Amino acid sequence: MPVSTQENNMEKRFPAYARRVIEALEQAGFEAWAVGGWVRDALRGQDGHDVDVTTSASWQDSERVLRAAGIAVHQTGTAHGTVTAVCDGDPVEVTTYRVEEGYTDHRHPDVVRFVSSVQEDLARRDLTINAMAWHPSRGLLDPFGGQDDLCNGIIRAVGDPEVRFGEDALRVLRAVRFSMRFGFVIEPNTQRALQTCAPQLVLVAQERVGQELDGIVSSGAVGRALREQPVVMCAALPELAACRGFDQRSVYHAWDVYDHIAHVCCACEAFTAGLARPELRWAALLHDVAKPATYSEDVLGHGHFFDHPREGARMALAIMRRLAIPSEVCVAAAALIRLHDERIPATRPAIRRLLAELARECPGREGQLAFSLLNLRRSDAVSKVPTASTWAGEQDRYAILLREELAQGAVFSVRQLAVSGADVMRACGMRPGPGVGMQLDMLLHAVMNGEVRNTRDNLLEWLIG
Ligand code: ATP
Ligand code: MG
Repeated sequence: MPVSTQENNMEKRFPAYARRVIEALEQAGFEAWAVGGWVRDALRGQDGHDVDVTTSASWQDSERVLRAAGIAVHQTGTAHGTVTAVCDGDPVEVTTYRVEEGYTDHRHPDVVRFVSSVQEDLARRDLTINAMAWHPSRGLLDPFGGQDDLCNGIIRAVGDPEVRFGEDALRVLRAVRFSMRFGFVIEPNTQRALQTCAPQLVLVAQERVGQELDGIVSSGAVGRALREQPVVMCAALPELAACRGFDQRSVYHAWDVYDHIAHVCCACEAFTAGLARPELRWAALLHDVAKPATYSEDVLGHGHFFDHPREGARMALAIMRRLAIPSEVCVAAAALIRLHDERIPATRPAIRRLLAELARECPGREGQLAFSLLNLRRSDAVSKVPTASTWAGEQDRYAILLREELAQGAVFSVRQLAVSGADVMRACGMRPGPGVGMQLDMLLHAVMNGEVRNTRDNLLEWLIG
């Protein structure tokens, strides 16, 4: 739908609770606008983004006026002029018009200065599509052509891109994130500045980098980001720089390590119809990150990467932890990376062993992770040389077995055994201690290998026999 039509719908989209906040501030003589992400997304026809309000009121005045209107207020960032109003249970961030000045360290403003005009506040924002304000009766305020850029699918910095990225290098990664999320192209001057300023990303706190990178990964377009923005991606994740141009000297590989990774990321989206889980996306991005470090050449000059899955899992865990990616994603992605190249016989016991291993590392998520692993392996297989892609079809055999095993309630964890530790102690006359766990592990192995059925009588008989 054209953006102008969307603009007419803004009124309907605007949530009543945010309207109350703006009205309360304006009835007290201040000016207030919705700003940033809500305006951008509503113009794109999307609801659901939190409403941020920007206002001429100081945070103390906002707090006073909103409380007087019966709205709860929390002091969430008063140093930057922000309070959070909670209206009908919904939070609205209310921030005083401000500008930021003197970024001597390329990441923090030296001074935050409160100003009286909304235009000045919009001018400090990063991208034209993020620098629009909207008001229920005054309509859209768009001094930098954000609406046109939104309509034409363009990412453009507000003001001189090199100056703006030089102030806060995180904006480099934000520009790429929005480009990937919306499928927008980056305007040429902005693109040039991205490349010039990308090295300054090393100055930015790793959690902030991690948050934006996670945004790129979860857009489902990290493969495109790798292809279109190699300079930025390698600056954000220096471990990838070592992969770029790294010749694999292998008959199995048509691409260097970096391009192979980009292919795998794209293939994961294709195999999952764009619904890959976060751990699969992160695993695809980092699955071969240890290849440069584990490279060796044989006498024929062929390249090998012995143990790169295990080393890769270790490196990926350290990288993701450094970037403050949620722990459950880190652990699961590391497990996928460790197993991405493992030889797995297409047999039921092997599938049960795989489930057991995943269950040990990520209890309760083994089934889902096993399917993600198969998608990673399929993606890996179609991203080498054409002949290697037959290996992708092999994964279908595992998938069939896996579905059958899960449907039949396969046993792959001690918790699923029909006997408990107490049963083992009684049957074997043992005292509590590590020996009991060892017996249970032995039983589990026997069940998984099909040597004994998982019934109480069978297990006890097997134990004492
Ligand atoms: P998202 O849907 O990703 O949350 P958003 O636009 O709300 O999108 P936020 O990171 O929540 O993004 O920031 C809110 C607004 O603050 C942005 O729309 C932008 O105007 C401004 N902003 C955020 N970070 C920066 C930055 N580093 N430099 C300049 N302006 C920024
Ligand atoms: Mg936001």
